[in-house]
Amino acid sequence: MKSSLIKNKRILITGGAGFLGSHLCDRFVQLGANVVCLDNFLTGSLSNIEHLIGRPNFQFIQHDVTRDFYFSKNVFAVLHFASPASPLDYLKFPIQTLKVGAIGTHKMLGVAKAKKARFLLASTSEVYGDPEVHPQPESYWGNVNPVGPRGVYDEAKRYAEALAMAYHRTHGVEVRIVRIFNTYGPRMRNNDGRAIPAFVSQALGNKPVTIFGDGKQTRSFTYIDDEVDGIVRLLLSSHVGPVNIGNPREMTVAQCAKAIIKACKSKSRLVYKPLPVDDPKIRQPNIALAKKVLGWVPTVSFDEGIETTIEWFRLHRLTPHLKNLKKRK
Ligand code: NAD
Repeated sequence: MKSSLIKNKRILITGGAGFLGSHLCDRFVQLGANVVCLDNFLTGSLSNIEHLIGRPNFQFIQHDVTRDFYFSKNVFAVLHFASPASPLDYLKFPIQTLKVGAIGTHKMLGVAKAKKARFLLASTSEVYGDPEVHPQPESYWGNVNPVGPRGVYDEAKRYAEALAMAYHRTHGVEVRIVRIFNTYGPRMRNNDGRAIPAFVSQALGNKPVTIFGDGKQTRSFTYIDDEVDGIVRLLLSSHVGPVNIGNPREMTVAQCAKAIIKACKSKSRLVYKPLPVDDPKIRQPNIALAKKVLGWVPTVSFDEGIETTIEWFRLHRLTPHLKNLKKRK
């Protein structure tokens, strides 16, 4: 299916006021879809979508998706992105995280079933836990500690995947599952505990850049535009089941911090703190399936993506008063 065929189709995006959700709202509004964004602002913010308010093909509904949702109009697709996503957030909101992965997914699958709509679940590389297979293909079942502090997020997503597949097998709901790897870009919060926004804010402020552990653990960072591109392709494809969408360029956390300090032309130095419990030691997607079924590969280099992200943080996070001044004019 071509992306032009999405024009005038109604797409419901839960968690649409969050980082990833708001970029998806932007993309689908651009593609001419009628976007309905649902969010309860647990970790998201109106500022992420305020530029869309008033557009004829954008509607915002403040709603907690763990509660019943009645909607009279047709829906082409439900994209379920609502969930705390950063370790700080899901450790602060453990029960909300489990509820939105379990009850929220159930309610939204109910909407998809009733409307005969496609259902796309935002899953995560965290379903692989601390992996024993590297890089991680979709066929790897993972190594997750269900009772550790991170289990609330990892298991909520694993349950959500199982529930989505049960709706597909039992009720024929057209299910797509994206396993998202660490994604970064404009609109991240500098205090959400994720590595890139933390490093960028610390480096821009010439403050010590904090590394948890020895910094040798690896991550594969995907720029937001590449991630959104992969998600749109997956939604429009006919592939049922999980697909990794992540940039296979793997780097250590220390390399990432040093690259950011350099790009910010900062005087920051590295400081080391203890590694959190169950922090994965390695992370790299195998994207053979995404290449084969979606023709997707990431196109934005780390240097390019990080430069855009740093510029955005410079303007919006460090000098928010400039934004307010602009608004008043
Ligand atoms: P985010 O915190 O910026 O966005 C999540 C949004 O969900 C927020 O706007 C929040 O207010 C909303 N939300 C939470 N609970 C809700 C509820 N009960 N009802 C309605 N809205 C609710 O996080 P993000 O990084 O944009 O992540 C979005 C999705 O992508 C999540 O499902 C996350 O698990 C997944 N994901 C993200 C990444 C990443 O690197 N950003 C990686 C893997 C998976």
